[in-house]
Amino acid sequence: MTTPPTPRTVLITGGNRGIGYALAEEFVAQGHRVAVTARSGEGPEGALTVRADVTDAASIDAAFTEVEAALGPIEVVVANAGITRDTLLLRMSEDDFTEVIDANLTGAWRVVKRASKGMLKARFGRIIFISSVSGLLGAAGQVNYSASKAGLVGMARSLTRELGSRNITANVVAPGLIETDMTAELPDAQLADYKKSIPAGRFATPAEVAKVVAWVASDDAAYISGAIIPVDGGLGMGH
Ligand code: NDP
Repeated sequence: MTTPPTPRTVLITGGNRGIGYALAEEFVAQGHRVAVTARSGEGPEGALTVRADVTDAASIDAAFTEVEAALGPIEVVVANAGITRDTLLLRMSEDDFTEVIDANLTGAWRVVKRASKGMLKARFGRIIFISSVSGLLGAAGQVNYSASKAGLVGMARSLTRELGSRNITANVVAPGLIETDMTAELPDAQLADYKKSIPAGRFATPAEVAKVVAWVASDDAAYISGAIIPVDGGLGMGH
């Protein structure tokens, strides 16, 4: 039988739209205390929205402090904020590369570093990184993005070794093609190609990712750490 959710304090980065917004909706629906970071806009009803840019450690620190004061110590953190700067290697500028790494990989590290303080004290924590099928399968035009997303796997596994004995888990959820602004930017021909290679024959909704992330954060998933959980309709099978 599924254990009823223990109410937790949850912080999700990039919760004003896309997958982050759906994550916040799901955690709110399950009765958790939920905060999202946003550079602009707001998270869903029932979630506290705080301003933060994951490329700026001071803004992350301020956001955590605000959430801790309002909702209590953060027990679940979802490093979701991310960007793409897709282009082929020879056209990829150094800024295209370093900006993606800074937001997706170093940004996640900044967030988790700040989150780990309270988790170590509480001897409880759930760290969840939103990676991507591209991180493991690779994707032409995404050398920067794939590298950033693959890096999250090493990060989760090292954190598992460092923090595992303190009842803190660190896992990677690797979505495939999800209907958000990020995929809306892709050319139709590329989307059609992807669709053909997805065994499920369709893209997923952000809510389908959110259900899995909420489960990884739950008591039922307490013994899962350092794992990669795909939500990709079979696109990345074998990674
Ligand atoms: P969106 O482009 O819809 O949303 C991205 C979110 O990240 C926004 O909230 C955005 O904030 C935020 N963000 C970006 N840069 C920063 C920053 N420097 N500081 C703070 N917040 C930032 O993307 P998705 O919802 O599709 O993607 C969410 C995550 O899921 C990303 O990590 C993405 O790589 C990953 N993913 C997405 C897939 C998909 O198919 N959509 C597939 C696999 C993984 P703002 O509104 O201010 O820009």
